Amino acid sequence: MSAIQYISNSANLNFYATAIRNILSSNHKRLTLIWVPGHSGIRGNELADETAKNAWKYPFILTENHNSSDLSSYIDTVFKSKFSEIFDNSSSHYKNINFNKTSIFNFTPLKHDHKFPRAYLTKYIRLRLGHTNLTHSHLFNRSPPPSCPFCRILFSVHHLLIECPHFSTIRNSIFGNTNPITLLGDPTKSNILLTIKYLQSVGLYTQI
Ligand SMILES: [Zn+2]
Repeated sequence: MSAIQYISNSANLNFYATAIRNILSSNHKRLTLIWVPGHSGIRGNELADETAKNAWKYPFILTENHNSSDLSSYIDTVFKSKFSEIFDNSSSHYKNINFNKTSIFNFTPLKHDHKFPRAYLTKYIRLRLGHTNLTHSHLFNRSPPPSCPFCRILFSVHHLLIECPHFSTIRNSIFGNTNPITLLGDPTKSNILLTIKYLQSVGLYTQI
């Protein structure tokens, strides 16, 4: 279907689309392109389908038949594929805040609201990334990584939001039964405000 739509649109100047249009129009005065559902039983169609599906596995060979949009589309596909592969195999904090989805390209975009204090967004985004002043500024100071003063284990965003028993009363009063990490994966205004309220209540807002 997409191939028919692509060929039908004369604005698409891809070499092969243009060549097919030229062949079709030189042999017929009037043409109607019809999409036929399913390939089963038609050997040529099945072969074409299989070849198209396998094409991404092979190196891209640039010829004079390709134009800049073909190249750009190929680079985009390779980039997304490689990035998804790395991301899916990682155990990064950023992946963990979105456990229902496997690709970085499916993340809910964070929309900027001008009525919203910029500092709130900054702190919230740092928590999403898992990199905050509290947990990572030691890298600039060349000092040892910070430990939680109550638990004596390494401080992390996960520890601050989920694990640390010292903050459990405040955590429960603000988040109730909701896992605070899920609020990082869904950047609505109310989720951002709740997260900021927690940081302020535990006295760590300025350190994030
Ligand atoms: Zn702790």
